[in-house]
Amino acid sequence: MSSKLIVLATFTNEINAEIVRAKLEANGINSFVFKDDCGGMEPQLQLILGVQVLVDSEDIEKAKKLLRKVKSYSTKVETWKCCKCEELIEGQFTECWKCGWSH
Ligand SMILES: [Zn+2]
Repeated sequence: MSSKLIVLATFTNEINAEIVRAKLEANGINSFVFKDDCGGMEPQLQLILGVQVLVDSEDIEKAKKLLRKVKSYSTKVETWKCCKCEELIEGQFTECWKCGWSH
């Protein structure tokens, strides 16, 4: 086998990564979630290093298309309003880009 794993996307938490992984699997694409948080002992490392979703290089184009669909869907659902400055923030961000307020 000459195929190798490629990073499809990096997330700031495991939940989003698992959602994407589940969508990929449902569409017949094998994927892997890679995180370096000391086996769950240091969950804050997920924020710093990110949680990666890896797919086979042969599936990368298909996976990217699927990811765009998943992303547009999830941002629509998760968009939140900053309590401090009332700026609308996209779901994948946990902090307000304008005033730095943490969600
Ligand atoms: Zn704000």
